[in-house]
Amino acid sequence: MSKLIFEKSVKGARAFTLPESDIPPEKVSEEIPADFLREEDPLLPEVSEVEAVRHFTALSQRSYGVDSGFYPLGSCTMKYNPKINEWAARLPGFAGIHPYQPEETVQGALELMYELEQMLCEITGMDSFTLQPAAGAHGEMTGAMIIKAYHNSRGDTKRTKMIVPDSAHGTNPATANMLGYKVIEVKSDERGLVDLEDLRALMSDEIAGLMLTNPNTLGLFEENIREIAAIVHDAGGLLYYDGANANAIIGIARPGDMGFDICHLNLHKTFGTPHGGGGPGSGPIGVKSFLADFLPVPVIEKHEGKYHLNYNRPLSIGKVHTFYGNFGVMVKAYTYIKALGSSGLKAVSQNAVLNANYLRTKLAGCYDIPYNRLCKHEFVASARKQKKEAGITALDVAKALIDRRCHPPTVYFPLIVEEALMIEPTETETRERLDAFIEAMLEIDREARENPERLKEAPHRAVIRRPDETGAARNPKLKWTPKD
Ligand SMILES: *Cc1c(COP(=O)(O)O)cnc(C)c1O
Repeated sequence: MSKLIFEKSVKGARAFTLPESDIPPEKVSEEIPADFLREEDPLLPEVSEVEAVRHFTALSQRSYGVDSGFYPLGSCTMKYNPKINEWAARLPGFAGIHPYQPEETVQGALELMYELEQMLCEITGMDSFTLQPAAGAHGEMTGAMIIKAYHNSRGDTKRTKMIVPDSAHGTNPATANMLGYKVIEVKSDERGLVDLEDLRALMSDEIAGLMLTNPNTLGLFEENIREIAAIVHDAGGLLYYDGANANAIIGIARPGDMGFDICHLNLHKTFGTPHGGGGPGSGPIGVKSFLADFLPVPVIEKHEGKYHLNYNRPLSIGKVHTFYGNFGVMVKAYTYIKALGSSGLKAVSQNAVLNANYLRTKLAGCYDIPYNRLCKHEFVASARKQKKEAGITALDVAKALIDRRCHPPTVYFPLIVEEALMIEPTETETRERLDAFIEAMLEIDREARENPERLKEAPHRAVIRRPDETGAARNPKLKWTPKD
């Protein structure tokens, strides 16, 4: 382990010298109450300028991102985000405006938001959008609030249950639960799709709706989506689309056409904003026209060529974010969509699907693929064969990939696949990168048979190897304490 910056500290070392203070010490104690004055100097590391630079450079090199290498983290769409998006978001006219500015001075920003909403409507087949939610899960919450407001507005208060598939992303049941719904699980059938018989049996006048993602978390397209929609609608429920990963469908299929009433998108997965470090995101939601009155306030309207923020919406669920959401992310999504155009967006989906199927086909000889047929932007492999034959688990495979300079796929999700390895290459990877990943995965499979002991100890080349993840979450040590 390299030394901490505090441990490198040498008394008197300086990276920068500030001019002597021109405030006499007596003046300081006169002006600042004694309680607020330090008795001793703060314990700060003292290092030379070059050591300070090396410290921060070393920290930056410890993190791994899409800009450093392959990152096939399923359900997360870790794709390359074109740098032109960052350029656009930093333009002074966008970056320097303030949300309290009068409407007439921010017409350009409002126009961008209005047009982005229109483009998202076109992409999803919805009628109205709000850009307020700051993340996918936040969009789900907003959508579930709209479902509730809709049923309540009709005096239909018996609907206290929400159906969620057993393959769902964890945020779906969590959202439904947070809104006070009882979560009812619908089973997947042997092909990995929603079990229609099970769904029919679950429907009643107590069901508020069904939350679904399509393609589902196995990367499979719900072929019976129209029938699913009919079953839910016939029983008076609404259909919610988790569109966090739209990489397989943009330009090709639309949730609005499939029968969904509400959907969210993750601009920070599909539309050009980097994510993963907890930075600002955006999870806009779209609704069909019969739900538009429930959208959060304000909504952006256009009258006689002028854009206007309308707060006067009696049926609105209210506000779900300060001001209007994360504006910088909207600028990036707008830039991304405009740069690609409709043929470019379609190519995104085609290449994402092609890349996923290329990997699936090449890995199928060594790893089990429980639902092994044409997939969309991702697929789920399993390390159950390696576990049975050599005691090598999905976690071991993930750690071994780190040694091969590759970010591991998502592991142990979805829950319905044993030793799951959920792989999403995305459309931005080259054939050569995909081939290198295939080679790494085949090599790990060989090592599982030839030298499982070594795999159990992987990663051998990482700064942090096998942390106690529970301990790190429950008893985090976030502060360095000097020895004396
Ligand atoms: C990422 C994801 C979400 C949640 O999005 P956040 O922005 O992380 O809140 C929801 N559903 C699916 C399928 C996802 O992949």
